[in-house]
Amino acid sequence: MTRSISPAMSRRSPELVSEYIHIPDNIETFEFDTYLIEECFVLKNIAGYFFKTILSELKLDIDEICLTKFIGYICEHYNRNYFHNFQHAVNILQMTYMLLNKSNMTHKIKPHIVFAGLIAALAHDVDHPGNTNSYEINSMSKLARLYNDISVLENHHCALAFELMDHTGLSQCFPDKAIYREIRRTIIASILGTDMSKHTECLAKFSRVPLDNHVLTIDEQITLMSSLVHFADLSNPIKPFDVCIEWSQRISLEFYQQTVKEELEGLPIHSFMKVRDKRTMCLNEISFILNISLPTWGLFVTRFNHMSFLREKLESNLQQWRDLEAKYNASDEIYQLDY
Ligand SMILES: [Zn+2]
Repeated sequence: MTRSISPAMSRRSPELVSEYIHIPDNIETFEFDTYLIEECFVLKNIAGYFFKTILSELKLDIDEICLTKFIGYICEHYNRNYFHNFQHAVNILQMTYMLLNKSNMTHKIKPHIVFAGLIAALAHDVDHPGNTNSYEINSMSKLARLYNDISVLENHHCALAFELMDHTGLSQCFPDKAIYREIRRTIIASILGTDMSKHTECLAKFSRVPLDNHVLTIDEQITLMSSLVHFADLSNPIKPFDVCIEWSQRISLEFYQQTVKEELEGLPIHSFMKVRDKRTMCLNEISFILNISLPTWGLFVTRFNHMSFLREKLESNLQQWRDLEAKYNASDEIYQLDY
């Protein structure tokens, strides 16, 4: 099936990182976040920074003009949703890079598989419509019909990522067919792996990847790379607490917007998504951390012991969410989410 591709913004810099951009000093830390950076030009250059760094570290020779064009097109095809937007995409790219580097796994994975994982991280929510798979399926949307209700959004993000790779000439940078097949497998595994219905399966596969001195097979490398993208996609709760609040508020607003559409269209509603006040947002966040984040990051740090500071950060954020919830609970006032 062909889709029409809108033209990327004009006056695009042909370089991955423009000389006019100041790259933030904390870019290679776990404190970095894009939520205060709204300018697309800056976000694209931050994405370019990670690719430039990794290409030089891995000595990968990829046409930078095609790659810069690809980043531009990906940016253009993200919608301006509260949560699933290009800022989120650049955050996940940054976190995938951080997890890869700080876990010292870069040398265990072939350069083209690392590159494919970073492409997947940036593209993993491209053209996200701002609602969930359950909305797509219940409303029998065009995408749900196209993908037969199976990982509807993730299939769409992935297919569009390949279309944009073809369109910008990035696919053609890999004339070796066997290498390109592995790139495709990595991108497909990484983007489809962000479907939360595959979460348990993803953790189980990650826990079986041997991380001792053993040389990883291609399948194991792809599993490891796609797991890192999935961990990165679940990294908001390990960020500085003010960043956690911001993204939590954004996902609540996106969810709330969906429940309004569902009500209007007579579709089933998940009650946890119908959140307009800050106390319920805190309760949702606490429940998400207890049920998803703690087991996820707990597993991550059992495999990478030297990164236990990530679980400690999560535990301290959990306490802060509890304190904030208690504060709202003690008040008679209802604090609405800021729009
Ligand atoms: Zn995402």
